[in-house]
Amino acid sequence: MSIDRREFLKTLGVAGAGLTGVSALGKSKPEPDAEEFYAILHDITLCEGCQECEFACATEYGLPTPSDDDYPDSSVKRELLPERYTVINAVETSVGEVYTKQQCMHCAQPACASACLTQAMKKQESGPVTWDAGKCMGCRYCMISCPFDIPKFEYDSNNPKIGKCQMCFDKLKEGEAPACVEACPAEALIFGKRSDLLRIAHKRILDNPGTYTDHVYGEFEAGGTSWLNLSPVPFKELGFNTNVETKPYPELTKGFLYSVPSVFILWPALLMGLREATRTDSEEGADHE
Ligand code: SF4
Ligand code: SF4
Repeated sequence: MSIDRREFLKTLGVAGAGLTGVSALGKSKPEPDAEEFYAILHDITLCEGCQECEFACATEYGLPTPSDDDYPDSSVKRELLPERYTVINAVETSVGEVYTKQQCMHCAQPACASACLTQAMKKQESGPVTWDAGKCMGCRYCMISCPFDIPKFEYDSNNPKIGKCQMCFDKLKEGEAPACVEACPAEALIFGKRSDLLRIAHKRILDNPGTYTDHVYGEFEAGGTSWLNLSPVPFKELGFNTNVETKPYPELTKGFLYSVPSVFILWPALLMGLREATRTDSEEGADHE
């Protein structure tokens, strides 16, 4: 990404002051109330794998729509891409074929936003974690800090962008639900206040203990997220990252930032270390293939 050298140095100066003063970790502002964010609940037991959510997302953001060959097939793991913000995969499990949906988790205290020196990644008060092309300097710290491996970078472009789900922030501002939720014919996706969705999720588990595994993925992972999942099988079976810390990731780096003045040199190494510590078994396997 082209960026004027003077602008770049200015950005580093501002960001450096922010980091050493820890303002980038939300120290100067009260933490947002994770219970009051908007959120989305994916009830995986209801998901039919129809990909209507994928089509709706592609249409909303002007991205390529899945081709006829691009359907969920348990022998292939389709990945998120810079131009694919959400993906439905089929997984063979102990209760048969199950469909998973992957996208940004919209963490309550996102590691990506804390790592971002220019505040291009930002947690909005309504819930979405958004990316601002005008502020991004292409450092990719958001990518290496994310415990869910979500942001994708357009390596092949002369003007590369970071691609990830924005939770339809613009639609939320108009009082509308995200495009994927509106499109889901099976009501597998529900949009609402996070606290309400957690109540719904726990009631479903309580009322149907044989249908659901007793875990709402996203309730505590990474300190809580705006994307919640209910599943018929343990999330590890679905390939979800179950090594994720329950503390917010920015908190894990706080002590380090207070004590190390040369944070700029060590910051990428720290982010990489955190990321390595929480890699899924399948990611590790892929590296050894
Ligand atoms: S899942 Fe990753 S990209 Fe999304 S908000 Fe959390 S840290 Fe940021
Ligand atoms: S639209 Fe609904 S049922 Fe269809 S794949 Fe997406 S979440 Fe599943």
